[in-house]
Parts: sequence; C-alpha cells; structure tokens
Amino acid sequence: MASVLGMSHIEITGARENNLKNISLKIPKRQITVFTGVSGSGKSSIVFDTIAAESQRQLNETFTSFARNRLPHYGRPDADAVGNLSAAVVVGQRRLGGNSRSTVGTVTDIHPLLRLLYSRVGTPFAGYSNAFSFNDPAGMCPECEGVGRRIALDVDRAFDRSKSLNEGAILLPGFRVGTWHWNLYAHSGLFDNDKPLADYTEAEWNTLLRGSGPDVSFEVRGRMAAPQKYEGVLDRFDRLHIKRDIEERANRDAVMGFVSVRPCPLCAGTRLNQAALACRIDGRNIADLAAMEVRHLVDVVAAIDAPVAATMVPAIVDRLRHLVTIGLGYLSLDRPTPTLSGGESQRIKMVRHLGSSLTDMTYIFDEPTIGLHPRDVTRMNELLRELRDKGNTVLVVEHDRDVIEIADHVVDVGPRAGTHGGEIVYEGGVEGLRQARTLTGRHLRRNPPLKTSFREPTGALAVTGATARNLRNVTVSFPTGVLTVVTGVAGSGKSTLVNEAFLAAHPEAVVIDQAAVGTSTRSNPATYTGLMDEIRGLFAAAGGVSPALFSFNSKGACPECQGLGVIHTDLAFMDGITSVCEVCRGRRFRPEVLRHTLRGRSVSDVLEMTIDEAAEFFTEPKPLRVLRTLKEVGLGYLRLGQPLGSLSGGECQRIKLAGELHKRGSVYVMDEPTTGLHMSDVEHLIEIMDSLVDGGNTVIVVEHNLDVIKNADWVVDLGPDGGDRGGAVIFEGTPLRLLDERDSFTAEHLRRDLA
Ligand code: ADP
Ligand code: ADP
Ligand code: ZN
Ligand code: ZN
Repeated sequence: MASVLGMSHIEITGARENNLKNISLKIPKRQITVFTGVSGSGKSSIVFDTIAAESQRQLNETFTSFARNRLPHYGRPDADAVGNLSAAVVVGQRRLGGNSRSTVGTVTDIHPLLRLLYSRVGTPFAGYSNAFSFNDPAGMCPECEGVGRRIALDVDRAFDRSKSLNEGAILLPGFRVGTWHWNLYAHSGLFDNDKPLADYTEAEWNTLLRGSGPDVSFEVRGRMAAPQKYEGVLDRFDRLHIKRDIEERANRDAVMGFVSVRPCPLCAGTRLNQAALACRIDGRNIADLAAMEVRHLVDVVAAIDAPVAATMVPAIVDRLRHLVTIGLGYLSLDRPTPTLSGGESQRIKMVRHLGSSLTDMTYIFDEPTIGLHPRDVTRMNELLRELRDKGNTVLVVEHDRDVIEIADHVVDVGPRAGTHGGEIVYEGGVEGLRQARTLTGRHLRRNPPLKTSFREPTGALAVTGATARNLRNVTVSFPTGVLTVVTGVAGSGKSTLVNEAFLAAHPEAVVIDQAAVGTSTRSNPATYTGLMDEIRGLFAAAGGVSPALFSFNSKGACPECQGLGVIHTDLAFMDGITSVCEVCRGRRFRPEVLRHTLRGRSVSDVLEMTIDEAAEFFTEPKPLRVLRTLKEVGLGYLRLGQPLGSLSGGECQRIKLAGELHKRGSVYVMDEPTTGLHMSDVEHLIEIMDSLVDGGNTVIVVEHNLDVIKNADWVVDLGPDGGDRGGAVIFEGTPLRLLDERDSFTAEHLRRDLA
C-alpha cells in the first residue's frame, strides 16, 4: 500500500535549503501543483534548489564521468531524502540565448519545418532544406553571413563637422590629432587642414570618407615612415576596427559607440541568399513568412494546398497555434530571441515542450504569467493542462489567482518571508486553500475594490508623435503628481511607450527595475544602503579605533578569506567548491576586530542580524532611518550581510525603492513591478507607490495586475491588440471611466473582476 502511494508522489523529507525549516512534503505526480507564498517564503528553495537540483544531480550520476564533467554541476541539496523524481525540465524566465542567429522560428523548431516545406513545395525547386537555412553556407546571405545586419560607421558620431582636421574633427579612437591615422589625412595634401569639415565641398567630403588615392608620406617621431596608401576614413575604420575589433571583441565597447547597425543591403535583413529568396510558395518566399506576425502566418500556412505537404502543414499550424494560444501571436518567427523579454522567452520554451512526445517528465514553471494580460492567462492555463494530460508532472510557482484556480494541488509556503518563512502552511486542493488561515487563503477570499477618489494632477509630461516599433504616432500626456498605470495586452506597445519614448523625452526619470543590484560578492544590504558606514562609525567610536578596522574589504578582514567568509577552491576538470572559511569560521573579520563590541555584539554578529532584529538593536537615529525604510519596503526579513547576488528580482526592486522613499519631485518608472510578488506583497507595493506619490513624486507603471490598476489615479490603455494590431492609445482617464470603455480588453477584465 505504502509503496503504491509512494510511486504516485515526489517525496521530500527534511529539506533545509536556504530558509527551509526541515520540511517534508509529498507532491502528486501527473498533476498540476502550484506553489504559493509571499516573496522570500521559500518556494524557489523547494522547487528549484531542492527538486530540480536533485533531479539534475541524479540524472548526471547516470552519465559516465567523462560526460559528467562536461555538464553543469549540481550539489546535493540539503535534504534527508528526495525520492521518486522524474527527469525535470525547468522552463524558467532565463532569457533565450544571446546568439543573434537564434530566432523565434529556430528555437520553436518551426523554421526547420518551414524549410522542409519550401524544399518540397516551393518553386523554382531548390533542393535540400538546408538551402533555406541562414545558419548553413548553402542558404546564408554571402554579404552578412546570415546575420542580416551590417555594422557601419555612423558618420554623425564619427566627426565633429564644426572643426577642422587640425582641431580634431575626427572623433574616432585612434584617429585623434597627431596619431598615425590622423597623419595619413593631414599629410595627404588633399585637404586644407584648417578648414572646418562643414565647409568642405561635396568632393572633399567624399574623398575624406571613401576616397582612394596616392601614397602618403609622413614623419613619425622624427623619422619618415614607409609611404602609406591613402584610404578614406570609412573604409579604413571598417577594415581595421569593425571587422577586427567587433568580431574579436577587443575594443568592442569603444568601437560600438561610433557605429550603427543597419539591415544588410544585399539580403535586406532576411539573412538568406538570392537563390533561397527566389523560391516561392503561393507567391511568398520563406523570408516573407518569417517576417509575418504568427497569428497571420497561421492562416497563410493552413491555406497551402499540396499533397506532398499533407503532414507537414498540420505540424506547422499546430505549433503556430500554440504560440497564438499563449498570447505570442504578435511575434514573428524572424524575431531574434535575445530581444525577447523573460516572460516571452518562458512561453516560447513552453511551446517547444508541448511539441515534445516525452511523457512522465516534471515540468517546472517560474511565474508563467509574467508579461501576460489577464485575457491570455486562461489560454495559457489550457497549455499547462495539456502538458499534464500527456502524463507529466507540472510544478508552477505562481501568484496569479487564475492560475492558482486550476491547481490540482497547492503547496502554500510561509507564514512569511526569510527566517519567518520556510514552512508548509497549507497542502491540499484549492477549495481548502480558500478556507485556509494563511496569507494566500486570506487574499483569495478578498478582492480589493476600485478606488473612488483620484488625485489631482500637478501638471503633465508629454510624449509627442512616438513611432518606435508598433507605436502609431502616439501623442499622450502623463499627469504628474499621480499614479499612472499603463495597460494593454502583451505586445501592444507598453514597454516601447514607457521605456523608450517616455524615457527619451524625459531622461531625468528614474527607472526602478528588478535588475540585480551590484554584482560584487562583497556587497550586501548593509553596504548597498550605506548602513555599513554608520555601523563602522559606531563601532569605531565605541572602541576608540579607526572605522576602517570594521570593513571586511580592508585591514580588519580575515586574511585567509579576504573578508568573504567563504573560500572558493578551483578544481581542475570540476566545478569549484565553496566552503566556509576555517580561520574566521565565516565571520569575515580578524579576531581582534571581533573583540570590539557595541552593546555586547561584534560587527560580525550585527551582519548576521535580520533588518527587523537590527531595527530593535540600534537606537541611533541614522541607522534607524535606513533600517525603517528597508522595513517599509517589506525587506525586514533579510540579513544585513546576505550577499546581494542571492536576492530575487522583487527583492532587488524593493531595495532600490527603499533608497527613493524619502525623496520629492522625482518621476519613477517601473515595468511590471509585481513580478514575483504574492498578493500580499502587491498590497504592500501599492502602499509604497502611494507613499511615493503622496510624498510629491510621479509614478508611472506598466502593469497587468488588476489590483494595481484598481489603485491607479490615471490609466493609459494601449491596444486594441498586440503587434501590428496595437500601438495606439485607446483610453486615457481614471479607472472608473475605463469601466465604461467597450473596446478595451483591460476594461473587460476589470469589469469581470469587480462583478
Ligand atoms: P521565494 O521563491 O518564495 O521568493 P526563495 O526560496 O527564493 O523564496 O528564498 C527563501 C529565502 O532564502 C529568502 O529569504 C531568500 O533571501 C533566501 N535565500 C535564497 N537564496 C539564498 C542564498 N543563495 N543565500 C542565502 N539566502 C538565500
Ligand atoms: P508590451 O510592452 O505591450 O508587451 P512591446 O512594447 O514590448 O509591448 O512591443 C511592441 C511591439 O514591438 C510588439 O509587436 C513587439 O513584438 C515589438 N518589439 C518589441 N521589442 C522588439 C525588438 N527588440 N525587436 C523587434 N520588435 C520588437
Ligand atoms: Zn545579408
Ligand atoms: Zn576567513
């Protein structure tokens, strides 16, 4: 009996990763389990650091040591046992590859199918399907080698045309006055070295840029150099720097400041050679299809009527429909994957797995609703069910009410975050969760109402005639002194309007994103907020010594680990090992430093405190002020010495917010700040945004979260749909007036939420 039960569950016993408190749980296999709980409660520690890590480790054990050493290394998670796992696939938000050759079409395997289709059905007949691959010499454009873009010198950035050659008109690195390259032009006899370039004749200007000409002789350090062949600045820079520096990444950053990236002139950005482009089906070549938005492409492919394509067409259509289903119909197959957002990347990976015929896998999703409008969440849920119904175990970390609703099983982690979390507070069905006395249960039961009074704007910040990406000559004004939420389905143009158009027009605005804060292993909440300086000062004053003694970056540091508290050992053929420093036992400081105390605590004891604990410990106004702001943004559970690299995106965002809380008159821009946040965290975030606005600031957020929209003073809704069907402002006004809007998906979902 027990063994039968065992086989149907993943069993975790005594898990202790990060903040987990020796927890045990059983997760039903071949079902959808949703993990809920506030940010920092321990969901990722269970799902990623315990289940996925152990599954990967066990899988690696089955390989030969030769293969094993070439795979990423996973340590054994801190748990007594993790049993009955199946192979786990993490479908996370890590962005898809930085390689410009990878596109939506290649990573979904739809492009290879299209190539096959063209090789069978296209005319004139081209042969093998590789003849349509821009990653294969048989199909790639010879000019750009399948990259589709050409990097060229940007003349406006390369020259200051108000100056003469002698005054340093050429701004390129290596072409400054007196350099070898400069001598070539100054001694060519072709130009008046004192004439500003703006006064050059057409012919002189062309000669400077692209001319070829006689040999030029000049002196270098008092000696005649061998005569050099004259060559225009563009050609010379191209030959010496663009090809060499960019490709070899030597001076890449310096050079990139002077170039612009344009579509390749030969293939017009299609990446393919002329033979591949000549081959057509129903008048369209493969590049035409790849450039279409997926939702239009579905119909075009479905209409292809050829007996030899009888099985291929449905296979392609099926995958394209999956893309539309998860709200990505506005993308085109030729879109490079490095330009996709984290949420878009995750949903693309989902399509790839739906096409797979493997069963009995464990699929792990990390907030698949990121970037998704409520309209598309229902459809995405269908795909999660489809994966389950193929016989897979589906684990989802999610905060969205609509996704929690479809769970077969819920694991609620809490009760709160960090040291106050790490326990399972509820396990069971959704019905039971709704009754549960946990934060998640409580928030599922209540639905915040729409705000009824709205702040009066103090002024307005305009965006005029924005045309970037899909924006259709958008002119819109953002009221100041209020909270504005920018809404619209995925791909409608929200990020483009806010992150590109608005920021270009108002560069003084402060962007508060979830990007990592500081990459140094030595930075932590105390150093990041400047609190460490105060702490050092207090210890120094108490002991009558120098504050520098209490810095783990300098002389007070443990000499063995240089103040890191841990030692990294690099091993040949294997991943390095990180272990606690044996000399200071992780305390980071020399023993004589630790003998200095403040109210009985050493500086190392203080770094071990949580922010909540430190706020009890310190009585001095300056550190208290910083600690209170950190508590205000809901980070009271973090330890002062926790490395910043281990913070989640949401935690990074809140630590940035903490630094802004008591400023006035600033404009803040946030793109989907509720990512990674539990409903109760969202409530808290709304309070923070309100206090920013009440403090005299302007806040503009891109958001799908209805609770945030309901709390807005002003809504700018983009649409009506995504991609070429989006890009227009379809509504501007209070959320109360939005309710009356008939043609807005946002309005529709707001009405449904409040019904
Ligand atoms: P969730 O997924 O619920 O947001 P996590 O499992 O990521 O929560 O984190 C649980 C707790 O463990 C948090 O307090 C987090 O700051 C902490 N934590 C996560 N990773 C590390 C780490 N590498 N080192 C120290 N603490 C960590
Ligand atoms: P939203 O923020 O509403 O999801 P975006 O502003 O990201 O929408 O996108 C608007 C349109 O621009 C979409 O059609 C999208 O596919 C396109 N787009 C966004 N980023 C890029 C990019 N880097 N390259 C090409 N097209 C892009
Ligand atoms: Zn080309
Ligand atoms: Zn040490």
